[in-house]
Amino acid sequence: VDRLRETLEGTLPAHSLPPARLQPSVTASDLDAALRSGVLQVHYQPKVDIRSGLLRGVEALARWTHPALGPIPPDQFIPLAEREGLIAPLTITVTEQALAQAAAWRAHGLNISMAVNLSPHLLECPDLVEQITDRVAIHGLEHHQVVMEITEGSLSARLGTALTRLTRLRLRGFGLSIDDYGTGFSSMQQLARIPFTELKIDRSFVCGAQQQPHLQVILRSALEMCQELGLTSVAEGIETLEDWRLLQSLGCDVGQGWLIGRPMPGDALYAWVRQHRERLPELRGPQPGEA
Ligand code: C2E
Ligand code: MG
Ligand code: MG
Ligand code: MG
Repeated sequence: VDRLRETLEGTLPAHSLPPARLQPSVTASDLDAALRSGVLQVHYQPKVDIRSGLLRGVEALARWTHPALGPIPPDQFIPLAEREGLIAPLTITVTEQALAQAAAWRAHGLNISMAVNLSPHLLECPDLVEQITDRVAIHGLEHHQVVMEITEGSLSARLGTALTRLTRLRLRGFGLSIDDYGTGFSSMQQLARIPFTELKIDRSFVCGAQQQPHLQVILRSALEMCQELGLTSVAEGIETLEDWRLLQSLGCDVGQGWLIGRPMPGDALYAWVRQHRERLPELRGPQPGEA
């Protein structure tokens, strides 16, 4: 539209021109500048054990507030980073902050796992495994504490490289998670070749499942598959206590969602832990030995 405007400008009276784009979009150079100046932030969302309600770990989620346009959702700037060759520096920035945060929590006695999102585009990067391993060592974290979440959707196109790189990460002891499971078209036969440790059921199957029997059928079969394949099952997008109870009764391992905690800055987690402790009786499922 903007280019059309330029072409039309001067040839037509101003009032007959199409309106300028209402929502100016962010550019690669904005994002590049943000990465260089260190304004990209990371928020952390709790992942909790569904039986006990106890905190297991967090997921690191990138946050960017544009100086003129305000907060930009990751669903906008992550694809931009992927298109414009900025996903490697972005991932390094996020991972570095996340690992430093995990080390700081650990120093305060909060020993939890840290999950970072890995774009499948990055799997082409030959020194990815070394870079991550080095960063983890520098922060003195153990490999099994660090989990890489990889979206199911874009994996199948890169199955060959994904298989080698992800297997290498797994051999180093890192956790590997299938993110947004159910939204892509990869077959389980493909996914099962990669040594995943965790499967995250997409929130479209979780949110509101209590009222929709067909979603419950899908949840049941995904959870059964996790059990058969020895994968930790995670339900994302748990927004209500009803959804929580349903997932609990279906035997899901880990829950994540607004009911439990929204993504938050690193130092807000201490207060969250205190508040969460008070909610535990409400969240706890039947314990072994209880009627
Ligand atoms: P994701 O990895 O599947 O992360 C979960 C998304 O769901 C997050 O959105 C989170 O804020 C949101 N969410 C969590 N609980 C609930 C809930 O109960 N209800 C609803 N409606 N939403 C919930 P966010 O932070 O906007 O991130 C969107 C996506 O952007 C992420 O999906 C991930 O694929 C991508 N992303 C974010 N940070 C990074 C990053 O550092 N690197 C890469 N490669 N991708 C990232
Ligand atoms: Mg994720
Ligand atoms: Mg997800
Ligand atoms: Mg997602």
